[in-house]
Amino acid sequence: MDKLDYRRFKDKYIVRLQKGEEVVETLEKFVKEEKIRLGRITGIGATDNATVGFFDTKEKDYHSKKLTGDMEILNLSGNISEMEGEPYLHLHITLEDAKGVLQGGHLNSAVISATGEIIIDVIDGVVGRNYDDETGLNLFEFE
Ligand code: FE
Repeated sequence: MDKLDYRRFKDKYIVRLQKGEEVVETLEKFVKEEKIRLGRITGIGATDNATVGFFDTKEKDYHSKKLTGDMEILNLSGNISEMEGEPYLHLHITLEDAKGVLQGGHLNSAVISATGEIIIDVIDGVVGRNYDDETGLNLFEFE
């Protein structure tokens, strides 16, 4: 992977993801390198291979599905926090296929097919996460 192309303007980053880059992995690496501990992620673009999850609250587990074919990333949104000292990204995505059908969910992975235009807003603070038995999720944990 080439070095990620981005610009920083005060507390905001504008990031260009390239064809072939996997969104979650690339952003996790970027956030780590830039030492971003808390923030908001938004994005648009295109993907042709994504895996999204749906959380089953009874089973306390994700059902994931793979989506392939040309899709617009209508919305990528999520946040950056920390868990056990490591950056933790929680991302959701809305995708539209060639027929105009929308699908989406909790984002596990998405490979960029054309471009990804990401904006990261850095928040000056730290929020952790802790596993919660009742929900089966890693919830925000405030100091
Ligand atoms: Fe989620």
